[in-house]
Amino acid sequence: MLLQRKPYQEGVDKMGRYSVLWSLTKHKMMMECETKYVLNYYFAKRGEYETKPPLLQLAWRLKNMTNVYLLIGNQIHQEIESEIRTLFETGEFLNASKIKKALYKNIEGIYKKAERGFERWYKDPTANSMLFEIYYDSSRLKEEVKQFIRRKVDTCVDGFINSFTLNEKIYSGKLKIMESEKYRSFMLDGIKVNLSADLIYFDTDCNEWGIVDWKSGKESAFDPIQLSIYGMYAESTYGANINDLIVTNEYLEDGKNKSYKVDSSGFKEVKTLIKQSADRIMKLEENISVSEEDVMDAFPKAQNQKVCERCNFKAICLENYRDKHINHFLEGVGKNGRNKEVEMVEIELMRELVSNGMPVDHEVEVFLEESPYETEESHTYKVERFSEYLSRF
Ligand code: SF4
Repeated sequence: MLLQRKPYQEGVDKMGRYSVLWSLTKHKMMMECETKYVLNYYFAKRGEYETKPPLLQLAWRLKNMTNVYLLIGNQIHQEIESEIRTLFETGEFLNASKIKKALYKNIEGIYKKAERGFERWYKDPTANSMLFEIYYDSSRLKEEVKQFIRRKVDTCVDGFINSFTLNEKIYSGKLKIMESEKYRSFMLDGIKVNLSADLIYFDTDCNEWGIVDWKSGKESAFDPIQLSIYGMYAESTYGANINDLIVTNEYLEDGKNKSYKVDSSGFKEVKTLIKQSADRIMKLEENISVSEEDVMDAFPKAQNQKVCERCNFKAICLENYRDKHINHFLEGVGKNGRNKEVEMVEIELMRELVSNGMPVDHEVEVFLEESPYETEESHTYKVERFSEYLSRF
Protein backbone atom coordinates (compact mmCIF):
# COMPACT_ATOMS: atom_id res chain seq x y z
CA MET A 1 0.00 0.00 0.00
CA LEU A 2 1.31 3.44 -0.91
CA LEU A 3 1.02 5.97 1.86
CA GLN A 4 0.01 9.53 1.34
CA ARG A 5 2.71 11.91 2.43
CA LYS A 6 1.36 14.27 5.06
CA PRO A 7 2.71 17.78 5.09
CA TYR A 8 5.20 18.45 7.85
CA GLN A 9 4.01 17.72 11.32
CA GLU A 10 2.07 19.94 13.68
CA GLY A 11 2.91 23.61 14.06
CA VAL A 12 2.97 26.47 11.59
CA ASP A 13 5.06 29.61 11.62
CA LYS A 14 3.69 33.20 11.64
CA MET A 15 3.40 33.18 7.84
CA GLY A 16 1.22 30.08 7.97
CA ARG A 17 3.98 27.86 6.59
CA TYR A 18 4.28 24.34 7.92
CA SER A 19 7.11 23.91 10.35
CA VAL A 20 9.32 20.94 10.88
CA LEU A 21 9.66 19.54 14.40
CA TRP A 22 13.28 19.39 15.42
CA SER A 23 15.09 18.24 18.56
CA LEU A 24 18.66 17.34 19.36
CA THR A 25 17.54 13.76 20.07
CA LYS A 26 16.09 13.54 16.54
CA HIS A 27 19.25 15.04 15.07
CA LYS A 28 21.50 12.57 16.91
CA MET A 29 19.45 9.59 15.77
CA MET A 30 19.44 10.83 12.17
CA MET A 31 23.23 11.25 12.27
CA GLU A 32 23.60 7.70 13.58
CA CYS A 33 21.37 6.04 10.99
CA GLU A 34 18.62 7.41 8.72
CA THR A 35 16.84 4.05 8.57
CA LYS A 36 16.66 4.00 12.36
CA TYR A 37 15.37 7.57 12.32
CA VAL A 38 12.48 6.95 9.91
CA LEU A 39 11.55 3.69 11.64
CA ASN A 40 11.48 5.39 15.01
CA TYR A 41 9.70 8.63 14.06
CA TYR A 42 7.38 7.57 11.23
CA PHE A 43 6.95 3.88 10.49
CA ALA A 44 6.94 2.33 13.98
CA LYS A 45 3.87 4.38 15.00
CA ARG A 46 1.82 2.71 12.29
CA GLY A 47 2.52 -0.69 13.87
CA GLU A 48 0.31 0.22 16.81
CA TYR A 49 -2.58 -1.34 14.87
CA GLU A 50 -3.10 -5.07 14.48
CA THR A 51 -4.11 -4.65 10.85
CA LYS A 52 -0.58 -3.51 9.94
CA PRO A 53 2.16 -5.85 8.68
CA PRO A 54 3.94 -7.81 11.44
CA LEU A 55 7.18 -6.01 10.62
CA LEU A 56 5.62 -2.69 11.62
CA GLN A 57 3.83 -4.17 14.63
CA LEU A 58 7.16 -5.40 15.93
CA ALA A 59 8.78 -2.04 15.05
CA TRP A 60 6.22 -0.31 17.32
CA ARG A 61 7.23 -2.55 20.20
CA LEU A 62 10.94 -2.06 19.52
CA LYS A 63 10.50 1.72 19.45
CA ASN A 64 9.02 1.56 22.95
CA MET A 65 11.69 -0.75 24.32
CA THR A 66 14.07 0.85 26.79
CA ASN A 67 17.55 -0.21 27.91
CA VAL A 68 19.43 -0.26 31.20
CA TYR A 69 21.11 3.12 30.62
CA LEU A 70 17.91 4.90 29.61
CA LEU A 71 15.98 3.27 32.43
CA ILE A 72 18.50 4.42 35.05
CA GLY A 73 18.70 7.92 33.49
CA ASN A 74 14.91 8.39 33.34
CA GLN A 75 14.34 7.14 36.86
CA ILE A 76 17.10 9.34 38.27
CA HIS A 77 15.67 12.39 36.50
CA GLN A 78 12.15 11.70 37.77
CA GLU A 79 13.38 11.17 41.32
CA ILE A 80 15.50 14.35 41.32
CA GLU A 81 12.55 16.37 39.99
CA SER A 82 10.27 15.01 42.68
CA GLU A 83 12.86 15.58 45.46
CA ILE A 84 13.45 19.19 44.38
CA ARG A 85 9.71 19.83 44.31
CA THR A 86 9.37 18.40 47.84
CA LEU A 87 12.35 20.47 49.01
CA PHE A 88 10.70 23.67 47.79
CA GLU A 89 7.42 22.70 49.46
CA THR A 90 8.77 21.51 52.83
CA GLY A 91 12.28 23.01 53.09
CA GLU A 92 13.64 19.64 54.24
CA PHE A 93 17.18 18.68 53.27
CA LEU A 94 17.44 15.67 50.97
CA ASN A 95 18.39 12.23 52.17
CA ALA A 96 20.68 10.15 49.89
CA SER A 97 19.78 6.73 51.27
CA LYS A 98 16.03 7.42 50.95
CA ILE A 99 16.51 8.46 47.29
CA LYS A 100 18.65 5.40 46.55
CA LYS A 101 16.09 3.03 48.09
CA ALA A 102 13.27 4.58 46.05
CA LEU A 103 15.33 4.22 42.87
CA TYR A 104 16.30 0.57 43.52
CA LYS A 105 12.62 -0.21 44.10
CA ASN A 106 11.35 1.57 40.98
CA ILE A 107 14.04 0.20 38.66
CA GLU A 108 13.69 -3.33 40.02
CA GLY A 109 9.91 -3.14 39.54
CA ILE A 110 10.39 -2.25 35.86
CA TYR A 111 12.95 -4.91 34.96
CA LYS A 112 11.01 -7.56 36.91
CA LYS A 113 7.95 -6.78 34.78
CA ALA A 114 10.09 -7.23 31.66
CA GLU A 115 11.38 -10.56 33.00
CA ARG A 116 7.81 -11.92 33.11
CA GLY A 117 8.18 -12.75 29.42
CA PHE A 118 7.81 -11.35 25.95
CA GLU A 119 4.16 -12.29 25.46
CA ARG A 120 2.75 -9.61 27.74
CA TRP A 121 4.92 -6.99 26.03
CA TYR A 122 4.00 -8.26 22.56
CA LYS A 123 0.31 -8.02 23.46
CA ASP A 124 0.42 -4.65 25.22
CA PRO A 125 3.73 -2.79 24.96
CA THR A 126 2.36 0.34 26.62
CA ALA A 127 1.39 -1.48 29.83
CA ASN A 128 4.37 -3.87 29.89
CA SER A 129 7.96 -2.75 29.67
CA MET A 130 10.82 -4.50 27.90
CA LEU A 131 14.55 -3.94 28.15
CA PHE A 132 17.02 -4.28 25.28
CA GLU A 133 19.28 -6.41 27.48
CA ILE A 134 16.43 -8.85 28.21
CA TYR A 135 15.04 -8.95 24.68
CA TYR A 136 18.35 -9.47 22.91
CA ASP A 137 20.68 -11.01 25.50
CA SER A 138 18.81 -13.19 27.96
CA SER A 139 15.28 -13.53 29.29
CA ARG A 140 16.41 -12.49 32.78
CA LEU A 141 18.67 -9.59 33.61
CA LYS A 142 22.15 -10.89 34.37
CA GLU A 143 23.45 -10.56 37.92
CA GLU A 144 26.34 -8.33 36.81
CA VAL A 145 23.85 -5.95 35.13
CA LYS A 146 21.84 -5.73 38.36
CA GLN A 147 25.03 -4.90 40.27
CA PHE A 148 25.92 -2.31 37.62
CA ILE A 149 22.50 -0.67 38.15
CA ARG A 150 23.04 -0.43 41.92
CA ARG A 151 26.55 1.00 41.53
CA LYS A 152 25.36 3.58 39.02
CA VAL A 153 22.40 4.61 41.17
CA ASP A 154 24.70 4.98 44.19
CA THR A 155 27.29 7.14 42.42
CA CYS A 156 24.71 9.29 40.63
CA VAL A 157 22.70 9.97 43.81
CA ASP A 158 25.91 10.84 45.69
CA GLY A 159 26.84 13.11 42.76
CA PHE A 160 23.47 14.85 43.02
CA ILE A 161 23.64 15.27 46.81
CA ASN A 162 27.14 16.77 46.52
CA SER A 163 26.40 18.83 43.39
CA PHE A 164 27.17 22.51 43.13
CA THR A 165 23.64 23.28 41.93
CA LEU A 166 21.98 21.62 44.93
CA ASN A 167 24.36 22.96 47.57
CA GLU A 168 25.21 26.42 46.29
CA LYS A 169 22.04 27.31 44.40
CA ILE A 170 18.97 25.35 45.48
CA TYR A 171 19.76 25.25 49.22
CA SER A 172 20.48 29.00 49.13
CA GLY A 173 16.73 29.66 49.03
CA LYS A 174 17.27 32.51 46.54
CA LEU A 175 16.04 30.67 43.47
CA LYS A 176 12.78 31.21 41.69
CA ILE A 177 11.97 28.04 39.73
CA MET A 178 10.55 29.13 36.40
CA GLU A 179 8.73 26.06 35.15
CA SER A 180 7.86 22.67 36.46
CA GLU A 181 6.98 20.93 33.22
CA LYS A 182 9.84 19.31 31.37
CA TYR A 183 8.95 19.48 27.68
CA ARG A 184 9.27 22.88 26.05
CA SER A 185 9.65 24.34 22.60
CA PHE A 186 10.37 27.56 20.71
CA MET A 187 10.16 28.59 17.06
CA LEU A 188 13.25 29.26 15.00
CA ASP A 189 12.55 30.49 11.44
CA GLY A 190 9.56 28.15 11.00
CA ILE A 191 11.26 25.23 12.78
CA LYS A 192 9.67 24.10 16.02
CA VAL A 193 12.59 23.27 18.31
CA ASN A 194 11.66 20.86 21.11
CA LEU A 195 13.77 20.51 24.22
CA SER A 196 13.62 18.99 27.64
CA ALA A 197 15.56 20.98 30.25
CA ASP A 198 15.66 19.71 33.82
CA LEU A 199 15.69 22.95 35.77
CA ILE A 200 15.24 26.60 34.79
CA TYR A 201 15.66 29.18 37.55
CA PHE A 202 16.15 32.85 38.19
CA ASP A 203 18.60 33.66 40.98
CA THR A 204 17.21 36.76 42.71
CA ASP A 205 20.50 37.27 44.56
CA CYS A 206 22.62 37.93 41.47
CA ASN A 207 19.96 38.43 38.76
CA GLU A 208 21.16 35.31 36.98
CA TRP A 209 19.16 33.03 34.72
CA GLY A 210 20.24 29.42 35.12
CA ILE A 211 19.46 26.27 33.19
CA VAL A 212 20.65 22.95 34.59
CA ASP A 213 20.83 19.48 33.09
CA TRP A 214 21.49 16.48 35.33
CA LYS A 215 23.60 13.98 33.39
CA SER A 216 23.71 10.34 34.41
CA GLY A 217 25.97 9.50 31.43
CA LYS A 218 29.41 10.62 30.31
CA GLU A 219 30.33 13.92 28.67
CA SER A 220 29.47 14.13 24.98
CA ALA A 221 30.37 16.43 22.09
CA PHE A 222 26.64 17.30 21.87
CA ASP A 223 26.49 18.74 25.40
CA PRO A 224 27.55 22.33 24.53
CA ILE A 225 25.05 22.31 21.61
CA GLN A 226 22.30 21.23 23.96
CA LEU A 227 23.15 23.99 26.42
CA SER A 228 23.11 26.62 23.65
CA ILE A 229 19.62 25.42 22.68
CA TYR A 230 18.52 25.87 26.29
CA GLY A 231 19.99 29.37 26.22
CA MET A 232 18.04 30.22 23.03
CA TYR A 233 14.89 28.97 24.71
CA ALA A 234 15.43 31.16 27.82
CA GLU A 235 16.13 34.14 25.57
CA SER A 236 13.08 33.62 23.33
CA THR A 237 10.65 32.60 26.10
CA TYR A 238 11.65 34.78 29.06
CA GLY A 239 13.52 37.51 27.27
CA ALA A 240 16.57 36.52 29.37
CA ASN A 241 19.58 38.70 28.60
CA ILE A 242 22.34 36.58 27.14
CA ASN A 243 24.86 38.20 29.54
CA ASP A 244 22.82 37.08 32.56
CA LEU A 245 22.48 33.51 31.39
CA ILE A 246 24.45 30.57 32.73
CA VAL A 247 23.93 27.01 31.55
CA THR A 248 25.20 24.05 33.56
CA ASN A 249 25.73 20.34 33.15
CA GLU A 250 25.97 18.36 36.38
CA TYR A 251 27.76 15.08 35.55
CA LEU A 252 26.41 13.03 38.42
CA GLU A 253 28.53 9.94 37.96
CA ASP A 254 31.83 11.81 37.74
CA GLY A 255 30.79 14.42 40.33
CA LYS A 256 31.75 17.18 37.88
CA ASN A 257 30.01 20.46 37.20
CA LYS A 258 30.49 22.36 33.93
CA SER A 259 28.98 25.80 33.59
CA TYR A 260 29.13 27.93 30.45
CA LYS A 261 28.29 31.49 29.55
CA VAL A 262 26.52 31.37 26.21
CA ASP A 263 27.41 33.93 23.53
CA SER A 264 25.85 35.11 20.29
CA SER A 265 28.52 33.50 18.06
CA GLY A 266 27.76 30.12 19.72
CA PHE A 267 24.04 30.72 19.08
CA LYS A 268 24.77 31.46 15.43
CA GLU A 269 26.63 28.19 14.89
CA VAL A 270 23.92 26.16 16.59
CA LYS A 271 21.19 27.92 14.56
CA THR A 272 23.02 26.97 11.36
CA LEU A 273 23.25 23.36 12.53
CA ILE A 274 19.51 23.28 13.37
CA LYS A 275 18.55 24.69 9.96
CA GLN A 276 20.76 22.23 8.05
CA SER A 277 19.50 19.34 10.12
CA ALA A 278 15.85 20.41 9.67
CA ASP A 279 16.43 20.55 5.88
CA ARG A 280 17.62 16.96 5.96
CA ILE A 281 14.58 15.96 8.04
CA MET A 282 12.29 17.55 5.42
CA LYS A 283 14.09 15.64 2.65
CA LEU A 284 13.60 12.38 4.53
CA GLU A 285 9.92 13.21 5.06
CA GLU A 286 9.53 13.57 1.31
CA ASN A 287 10.51 9.91 0.99
CA ILE A 288 8.20 8.49 3.62
CA SER A 289 5.62 7.78 0.95
CA VAL A 290 7.49 4.55 0.16
CA SER A 291 5.37 1.49 0.70
CA GLU A 292 5.62 -0.06 4.14
CA GLU A 293 7.19 -3.23 2.81
CA ASP A 294 9.96 -1.25 1.08
CA VAL A 295 10.94 0.81 4.09
CA MET A 296 13.89 -1.35 5.08
CA ASP A 297 15.60 -0.68 1.74
CA ALA A 298 14.53 2.90 1.07
CA PHE A 299 16.80 4.84 3.44
CA PRO A 300 20.55 4.90 4.08
CA LYS A 301 21.72 2.55 6.83
CA ALA A 302 24.35 3.11 9.50
CA GLN A 303 27.88 3.34 8.14
CA ASN A 304 29.28 2.28 11.45
CA GLN A 305 28.21 -1.31 12.15
CA LYS A 306 28.88 -0.82 15.85
CA VAL A 307 25.75 1.38 15.98
CA CYS A 308 23.69 -1.66 14.96
CA GLU A 309 24.82 -3.64 17.99
CA ARG A 310 22.91 -1.32 20.35
CA CYS A 311 20.02 -0.51 17.97
CA ASN A 312 16.50 -1.48 19.09
CA PHE A 313 15.50 -2.12 15.46
CA LYS A 314 18.14 -4.71 14.62
CA ALA A 315 15.46 -7.44 15.06
CA ILE A 316 13.75 -6.23 11.88
CA CYS A 317 16.64 -4.53 10.08
CA LEU A 318 19.38 -7.16 10.11
CA GLU A 319 18.55 -10.02 7.79
CA ASN A 320 19.96 -12.72 10.05
CA TYR A 321 17.61 -11.60 12.86
CA ARG A 322 14.40 -10.66 11.02
CA ASP A 323 12.61 -13.96 10.44
CA LYS A 324 13.35 -15.41 13.84
CA HIS A 325 12.08 -12.28 15.59
CA ILE A 326 8.97 -11.79 13.44
CA ASN A 327 7.99 -15.46 13.79
CA HIS A 328 8.53 -15.24 17.53
CA PHE A 329 6.37 -12.11 17.70
CA LEU A 330 3.58 -13.79 15.70
CA GLU A 331 3.71 -16.83 17.98
CA GLY A 332 3.65 -14.53 21.00
CA VAL A 333 0.44 -12.85 19.86
CA GLY A 334 -1.06 -16.20 18.86
CA LYS A 335 -1.01 -15.53 15.11
CA ASN A 336 1.49 -18.20 14.07
CA GLY A 337 1.31 -21.81 15.32
CA ARG A 338 4.66 -23.43 15.96
CA ASN A 339 3.78 -26.46 13.80
CA LYS A 340 3.21 -24.11 10.84
CA GLU A 341 6.41 -22.16 11.31
CA VAL A 342 8.67 -21.85 8.33
CA GLU A 343 11.93 -19.96 8.29
CA MET A 344 12.86 -17.43 5.59
CA VAL A 345 15.72 -19.69 4.60
CA GLU A 346 13.08 -22.28 3.60
CA ILE A 347 11.26 -19.67 1.53
CA GLU A 348 14.60 -18.88 -0.13
CA LEU A 349 15.11 -22.60 -0.77
CA MET A 350 11.64 -22.75 -2.27
CA ARG A 351 12.43 -19.81 -4.54
CA GLU A 352 15.59 -21.56 -5.71
CA LEU A 353 13.78 -24.84 -6.37
CA VAL A 354 11.07 -23.06 -8.34
CA SER A 355 13.58 -21.05 -10.36
CA ASN A 356 15.32 -24.37 -11.18
CA GLY A 357 12.10 -25.76 -12.61
CA MET A 358 10.23 -27.35 -9.70
CA PRO A 359 6.53 -27.37 -10.70
CA VAL A 360 4.21 -25.51 -8.30
CA ASP A 361 0.83 -23.82 -8.59
CA HIS A 362 0.94 -20.48 -10.37
CA GLU A 363 -0.47 -18.93 -7.16
CA VAL A 364 2.56 -20.09 -5.19
CA GLU A 365 4.92 -18.74 -7.85
CA VAL A 366 3.27 -15.33 -7.43
CA PHE A 367 3.52 -15.56 -3.66
CA LEU A 368 7.21 -16.31 -3.90
CA GLU A 369 7.77 -13.09 -5.77
CA GLU A 370 5.96 -11.04 -3.12
CA SER A 371 7.22 -10.00 0.26
CA PRO A 372 5.89 -12.49 2.82
CA TYR A 373 5.34 -9.65 5.30
CA GLU A 374 3.08 -7.58 3.09
CA THR A 375 0.16 -8.19 5.41
CA GLU A 376 -0.23 -10.39 8.42
CA GLU A 377 -2.78 -12.56 6.60
CA SER A 378 -0.55 -13.05 3.58
CA HIS A 379 2.36 -13.95 5.83
CA THR A 380 0.35 -16.60 7.71
CA TYR A 381 -1.13 -17.97 4.49
CA LYS A 382 2.24 -18.21 2.77
CA VAL A 383 3.84 -19.85 5.75
CA GLU A 384 1.12 -22.53 5.71
CA ARG A 385 1.31 -23.12 1.95
CA PHE A 386 5.09 -23.29 1.90
CA SER A 387 5.08 -25.73 4.79
CA GLU A 388 2.72 -28.00 2.88
CA TYR A 389 4.93 -27.91 -0.23
CA LEU A 390 8.16 -28.36 1.67
CA SER A 391 6.80 -31.37 3.57
CA ARG A 392 6.64 -33.22 0.20
CA PHE A 393 10.37 -32.91 -0.49
S1 SF4 B 1 20.26 -2.08 12.81
FE1 SF4 B 1 21.82 -0.62 12.10
S2 SF4 B 1 21.24 -0.14 9.99
FE2 SF4 B 1 19.46 -1.06 10.97
S3 SF4 B 1 18.25 0.64 11.75
FE3 SF4 B 1 19.59 -0.02 13.40
S4 SF4 B 1 21.41 1.23 13.24
FE4 SF4 B 1 20.31 1.41 11.30
